Amino acid sequence: MKFNFIKIFLIAGLAFISLNSFSQDLIARQAPIDKKLKAVDSLALQRQIRAEQSEYPALDLYASWSNEFVHRYKDLKVPDSYNIDLTGFCMPTTNTKVTSPYGPRWRRMHNGIDIKVYVGDSIVSAFDGKVRIVKYERSGYGKYIVIRHDNGLETVYGHLSKQLVKENQIVKAGELIGLGGNTGRSTGSHLHFETRFMGIAINPALMFNFPKQDIVADNYLFRKSGGQRNIAGSHDSEIGGEIRYHKVKSGDTLSRISKRYGVSISTLCKLNRITTKTTLRLGQVLRCS
Ligand SMILES: [Zn+2]
Repeated sequence: MKFNFIKIFLIAGLAFISLNSFSQDLIARQAPIDKKLKAVDSLALQRQIRAEQSEYPALDLYASWSNEFVHRYKDLKVPDSYNIDLTGFCMPTTNTKVTSPYGPRWRRMHNGIDIKVYVGDSIVSAFDGKVRIVKYERSGYGKYIVIRHDNGLETVYGHLSKQLVKENQIVKAGELIGLGGNTGRSTGSHLHFETRFMGIAINPALMFNFPKQDIVADNYLFRKSGGQRNIAGSHDSEIGGEIRYHKVKSGDTLSRISKRYGVSISTLCKLNRITTKTTLRLGQVLRCS
């Protein structure tokens, strides 16, 4: 009974915090209400409490904090797999048009996804976190921001016209951090958005669906050897083509998914590095083309 009382108290507290920490127009950009409710489970509560107690998000993974480099993490021991909690997200921009996907491009790796934005458009933090870098890179990211989040991800926002946060500042999901722009190596204003786990770039489209303004699933299973780099980065011929994903639901089988997307089971296995004997997990996201 006592535990229940505390839990109810915390949930009420959370609702109070979320109502107070966002302005009206930010509320409109928040995740749909069912996602928000789902976020109020004990894991999310633990995360919230930890984030509030900790000056340094995801310190258990990173062990250090530096304002220097975007992705120089040579000394880190990356876990074989890690479940990244995506609840509590906010889409970084309300714009929906992807102008360039993640993957090899012009003989170099495009480590992020480009979203069409106009100069002056609001860019907001994708999750709660702490601003690690606010810098300018003339021949690269332009004016950019890197934020480390408590779920272990780091997000990068490039080509901004204005940076509105300072290094080491604590930010909330949905908080305005900068304005869209065309600075650095960029032709035409857009947001270059990266998601990285301990320095390793993950295709943001595996987690964020910009056209639908939603997350792909509540969590994303990072696999060190499973190759999110490979899944998105080794299919040169498919660049420019649409990549489709399927979130496993109750009753799904490989053959049902194969029929639905019109791809063979062996292709499904190859794309996802699984075998026909692999047990599908509920909520697991499979690449289907
Ligand atoms: Zn880009």
